[in-house]
Amino acid sequence: MERNFRMLRVMKDRMEICGSCGTIAPPGKYQCAQCHALFDSNRVEVSPPDNELSYARLIGNFVCRRCGENIAISHFTLEGFQCPVCNSQERFDWALWEDIVKYAHNVADLCGFDQPDATDTVFWQTFREREGEDVLRRFRAIGRNSAAYTITNRRPHLAQYNVDVSPGNPVCENCHLPLAIRVDDGTLVTQCGECGEFQEYELMSNIEDYLFLFACISPWHLAERSKDDSRPTLPVPDSPTPWWMVFQGPSVLRQKIDRTLRRLNEETARNNQRIERRKVAAHARHHRMKIRARKRAAVILLTVGVSTAAITSVVLHFLNF
Ligand SMILES: [Zn+2]
Ligand SMILES: [Zn+2]
Ligand SMILES: [Zn+2]
Repeated sequence: MERNFRMLRVMKDRMEICGSCGTIAPPGKYQCAQCHALFDSNRVEVSPPDNELSYARLIGNFVCRRCGENIAISHFTLEGFQCPVCNSQERFDWALWEDIVKYAHNVADLCGFDQPDATDTVFWQTFREREGEDVLRRFRAIGRNSAAYTITNRRPHLAQYNVDVSPGNPVCENCHLPLAIRVDDGTLVTQCGECGEFQEYELMSNIEDYLFLFACISPWHLAERSKDDSRPTLPVPDSPTPWWMVFQGPSVLRQKIDRTLRRLNEETARNNQRIERRKVAAHARHHRMKIRARKRAAVILLTVGVSTAAITSVVLHFLNF
């Protein structure tokens, strides 16, 4: 039987989000786990983006190595963050960002209502092989019965952090409706269809170096700030502040899974061809054997016929007919 392993789509189906914070609103839940808003009047349906962008909401902090205080991770920077308590500039470099960016993209790209369903075991087997059972279990719940994937750093020599990433869509702060997001003239533009409020954010310049992190939606990444060298530094938030990462194209995990599924499809096609060829050969062999058997039967019949005729003529000769 021919099997076709489903490739994953770039576009998401429609999904429901929390009108207050934009996080995905899993079916059956009555309250947002991220901002605690009640969903009864706050569930908003969003259409999939018509470009190859996907969004992950982040909220988290890390521990200051000098004073042990929590520092909010408020935006993407390789320069580190200043501790609001002891004022030391705490390093937070790519070694720490890498997992956050990777999982945020996986969550933005693969989670939501159009996750491959439970019956698509090949997808999940591949996922398990790639990421392990623990990640699989937490990941599968997102969009179904949980809204966030928590990323923590377990490497003892690096800063300890805790970041929640969720799929969803940024919402307007005034109207709580999903923002339309487009790329325009080298910036990422977010616009509210209701009140018209719009903002422009800088695009990352070398997205391949940062696992296809395309742009970030936070006050630190406003395009006007990146153009102005004399920009004053924004105050460090006292508590974790949500912000968004915007990704372009398929996540690294999806590319890996798609490659595996493609290989499985090719193997299946090759196996099917082999089975087909064997069937044809067996059929031909059967046909040849049938012809041989018929020939043998004909020879026997002929021999029997000739012998019978000879015996009959000899008998008749002796009886003097
Ligand atoms: Zn919320
Ligand atoms: Zn500190
Ligand atoms: Zn608005």
